Formats: sequence, C-alpha cells, structure tokens
Amino acid sequence: MELRFLEHDEGRVKFVLSGVDSAFVNALRRTMIADVPKLAVDEVEIYENTSLLYDEQIALRLALIPLRCTEELVHPEDCECGGKGCEKCEVKLQLECESPDTEGSITIYSKDLKPLDERVSVVHQRIPLIRLTSLTKDVGSIRMPVKQRVSLIAKARMGTGREHAKWQPVTVCGYKNTPIIRINEEICRGCGRCAEECPKNLINVREKAEISDELSCILCKLCENACENKAIHVICADDSFVFFAESDGSLTIDHIVTKAARIMQRRCDNFISELESTAAQ
Ligand code: SF4
Ligand code: SF4
Ligand SMILES: [Zn+2]
Repeated sequence: MELRFLEHDEGRVKFVLSGVDSAFVNALRRTMIADVPKLAVDEVEIYENTSLLYDEQIALRLALIPLRCTEELVHPEDCECGGKGCEKCEVKLQLECESPDTEGSITIYSKDLKPLDERVSVVHQRIPLIRLTSLTKDVGSIRMPVKQRVSLIAKARMGTGREHAKWQPVTVCGYKNTPIIRINEEICRGCGRCAEECPKNLINVREKAEISDELSCILCKLCENACENKAIHVICADDSFVFFAESDGSLTIDHIVTKAARIMQRRCDNFISELESTAAQ
C-alpha cells in the first residue's frame, strides 16, 4: 500500500491510495461516514417557543450544529448511568432568545447557543437557527409590542452516522479511481478539439496535446470522444484511488481517518479470533 498526500489540513484531506482494491477504499469511506462517533444534540427540553417554527424543526436544526468537545464522551448505551445522562455521556447547552423590543426581526445564530459545560463549544458561529419577529398590536388606545421568544436546554450525546445523519462527522467523503490519460503523440495532430471539450481545462495544445493536472480529471471522457484520430485515451487505475474528505468541524480530519482505520482493524481482529475459536472447537 502506498499513500501520497495531495492536500492536508485540520479540516480536509486529499490523498492518493495505491495498492488497494475498491472494496478496501469503500470500506474506509463507509466507516468514516457511519461508524466514527461524534457529539450532537440528541434531546431538547423546550420551555417556551412562540417562534414560527415547530419544536421539532428547532430540535432538528440544533442537532445539525457541529459541536466540539475537549474530551471524548461515552456513548449513552455504554455509560454506567444506564443512558439516563451524566457528565460522562452528556453535555448541555442553553438557548434563550427573543425578538427585538421594537417592531422588526432578528436572526438567531448558532453562536447564541451557550454551552453549560466548559468542555463543549460550538464550532461555526454563523449558522442561522431561527428568525424571531416583533409586531405591534393596538390594545384600546395603547400600542403593545408582541414578541416571540424561545427558551430551551439542548442535551448533546455521542452517536454514529449509522444511528442518525446528525452524528456523521464528514460533510464530504468520497473517492475516484486514479485517472490515467494517455496521448499518442505519433497520431495527435494538435487540432485542439480535446482541449475545447475538457470541462476542467486540463489539456493544453501547442504542437501536440499535453495534460496539465491528471489527478483533477473527472473521467468524463469528453476529450476521448472529441478526438477523431483516437489519439487520446482516458483509463481508470483499478488499484489506485484519489480519496477526499472534509470534516464538519466537530472532529479533526486526522482523527476521523485514523479512528475509521482502527475500527476496521478491530473488526478484522474480532473476525480472526472468531474464526480461530470456531476452528479450535
Ligand atoms: S483532439 Fe486528438 S488529435 Fe486533436 S489535439 Fe486532442 S488528442 Fe490531438
Ligand atoms: S476525461 Fe474529461 S476531465 Fe478528463 S481530461 Fe478528458 S475531458 Fe478533461
Ligand atoms: Zn452517563
């Protein structure tokens, strides 16, 4: 197996993985999406909601806000509290907001969700949550403001994407076969048709066609179809893949990839010990 990084920072990674088959790389992708645990709002106690949104809509929006925790909490099912909720398996956040004192509207953002536990923080501050509007109503000769208000406590717990998409730690996670583009210079006549068709502008033609960034090819084969001389061929490597993933911010991308690899390793170890114990009987 060979690994070559193309891009790598805290939130994104792109690498070429060679010497593996598509089953392996797809298992890595699926494990990253479905099995790496992260924190998300799972239960909301709503004390007041006079906004235009139903309680369930607010709860869903809260669940999709990425949260970061300084320590890895225990999954409620594995916690010694039996899943009732304790500091080992749960953190709380509070939202208290109301519309303006005068007629008008305000937008409530994710930054208005205040952690009640110093271990947890909201990753992205400007995710819109609710719009609250104040109107005025005439009561006799007096103009009264009619305000909207939301008051709630959100409880965040660990879970996996397999249980619900709100626990999926990646926003983008995929791969493609590594593209290989071959140009037969003997028969290329430099007409430039392939370059005109390429949606990614990867082909330069001086006297002959040349490829500038092969790994960015999206394998559409429009260049191949445009070439009357059949001088350009696009093929996919079947043992090499360009893998890309982006975290939603709740975990670093390094944590997500290595955790997924460890989960796969543990499953294989369990499988081997099951086989060995069956064979020994
Ligand atoms: S279309 Fe074919 S012949 Fe024309 S430049 Fe491209 S590869 Fe060469
Ligand atoms: S396959 Fe598509 S993206 Fe790749 S070089 Fe040809 S036209 Fe461009
Ligand atoms: Zn607990």
